[in-house]
Amino acid sequence: MKYEDKIFDKAKQYCDDNKYRFTAPRQYVLKILLKHHKPMGAYDVLEELSKSIDKPTPPTVYRAIDFWREHGFVHKVESLNAYITCCEDHTHQDTHFLVCDDCHMVDEIHHPRPTNNIPEGFRVKRTWVETHGTCNACSQQAGLAS
Ligand SMILES: [Zn+2]
Ligand SMILES: [Zn+2]
Repeated sequence: MKYEDKIFDKAKQYCDDNKYRFTAPRQYVLKILLKHHKPMGAYDVLEELSKSIDKPTPPTVYRAIDFWREHGFVHKVESLNAYITCCEDHTHQDTHFLVCDDCHMVDEIHHPRPTNNIPEGFRVKRTWVETHGTCNACSQQAGLAS
């Protein structure tokens, strides 16, 4: 089974188990994001969605994206203002994105929550880190070109 199908099935199961509606826009938006592998802006999602649903509006897209974000299946890459599906178990807390400035590929990694330098008494709810740079493939390409 393909990775995208596995996540899609898991999302469906999750909705069934929790009595959330697995609506057509939710299904299509998740499928679109899963297929894309790279972060997508909401309007790119809207454009794709219009192939499956007649004249979808931006609120349709945002509502579906927000639903999946709330349940951890989709993340927002803040610095790109774009969305990507979670590459791991959607129940994790913290995310660290590695963003390639050349090809906009995004890798999601997880590591223990940093506790250094956080003053006592500050209660951490969520940690969100985005690191920009050049991915391995792009670095190698640059190396070959020069
Ligand atoms: Zn994730
Ligand atoms: Zn790259």
